Amino acid sequence: MLSPFSVLKKESSKFKSLNIWKQLKDDGNDLSWYLAVSTNRMPAKYLISKSILCNITDLTAATEERLWEEHRNLTEIFLETWKKVRSEKYDVTCNLDSGKTSLMDLNIELTKRMLKHCNFCRWNCQINRSVQSAGSASGEAKKQGTCQLESTSKVSSYFHHCGEEIVFRGTMGSGTIFFTSCNMRCSFCQNGDISTDKDNGIPITPYLLALMIWQLRMEGCHNTNWVGGDPTIHLHTIVEAIGMLDSLQMSAINKMKQYEYIESIKADNYVNRYNTTLKNSESAFYQRRLFNSPQLWNSNFFMSNETLHILRSLMDVWLPDFKFGPGKCALDLSRTPWYWDTVTNNLKQIHGWGEDLVIRHLIMPNHVECCTKPVLDWIALNMPEVPVNIMDQYYPDNLCDPSSSKYRERYNEISRSPTEEEIIRSYQYARELNLNFEALSYEKSVFKLIP
Ligand code: SF4
Repeated sequence: MLSPFSVLKKESSKFKSLNIWKQLKDDGNDLSWYLAVSTNRMPAKYLISKSILCNITDLTAATEERLWEEHRNLTEIFLETWKKVRSEKYDVTCNLDSGKTSLMDLNIELTKRMLKHCNFCRWNCQINRSVQSAGSASGEAKKQGTCQLESTSKVSSYFHHCGEEIVFRGTMGSGTIFFTSCNMRCSFCQNGDISTDKDNGIPITPYLLALMIWQLRMEGCHNTNWVGGDPTIHLHTIVEAIGMLDSLQMSAINKMKQYEYIESIKADNYVNRYNTTLKNSESAFYQRRLFNSPQLWNSNFFMSNETLHILRSLMDVWLPDFKFGPGKCALDLSRTPWYWDTVTNNLKQIHGWGEDLVIRHLIMPNHVECCTKPVLDWIALNMPEVPVNIMDQYYPDNLCDPSSSKYRERYNEISRSPTEEEIIRSYQYARELNLNFEALSYEKSVFKLIP
């Protein structure tokens, strides 16, 4: 019988040999940074961020303006360093144990400051989420933002996700963490129980979140997949958890009570948490000593520019969900203003930064002309080489499901699955635009209506 270490090593090499990498390379975009981190040939960006030293020693004493100024400077150094890491001219371990303040610490401090006037996403609610309701001195009801969250984050489930795109699910699954609540209000949401109920799930701390990441990666997951609802609204918890990853020790993770608590929401059967033979294995460590997992931002991309800049030095690959065209559909179906401008600006930025990304688009009934076509046109014009998953899996859910008591007649136009004609029309249009979509879309297609 193979040891767990040999099993994971074998799975990692199967993942590297998947045919999809060759297909994507032939199509001009093979997500090479993400793959290198996932297979531990390169260190995740958060390790690089930790090696960039900060000139401000007491971050809590500095003004937010000063912190952002330093952030701009350190981001430049980060980018130079990242380039050197990729050409193997930089040893990322050089400053990691120095105990000095780093770009990672600066990212954490900035998210704490942002939480006090929340501008994590485009709603820019400017409310102070760092004070809990019960702590309101005046006794007045505390103001809530669109996401209705305070500072505590809740996780609904975490697991090896075997339904994501092949590049993310690979052979061992994508290490997915599902947060509750959302900053959009999609009437058709297929995770409505999570996204519309802020109290679904268990409260977690950054440390518990770091344990989840650690466990999933040690069990062989190819990445850490931040999703919800939407992860943006939990930015502060996520960034702090990422900052703890390289210092978690096996002795710490063997704390039974903490594992019993988080595993109450673990939705799979992989259990390798106590297997110390995996320590320093090639499956989860860079240079056999630094815990390494590529960070995947799986989001509606309705985040603020500030959030995007924080994530730039932390995310190794991005999975934006580009849903609606430039008309009123985002407002009508998701009660979300400024959708088109926000998402296209964010997409342009990460593409301009040379990041690895895969764009998702869901074909919706009666929305091929107003949403699918403009979305695909925009991608063809701005980033034609980027891999796209055009999804045919829409079904009426949440407020659009005629068999549900939640159903609302005003969503009648999307209360059915897309027709064969709508799916084929969408694929044909993408083909006419010469988009890089076939490799990822067809293997995940539910109806297999390949034109
Ligand atoms: S995360 Fe977005 S929706 Fe929530 S309070 Fe902050 S700005 Fe508002």
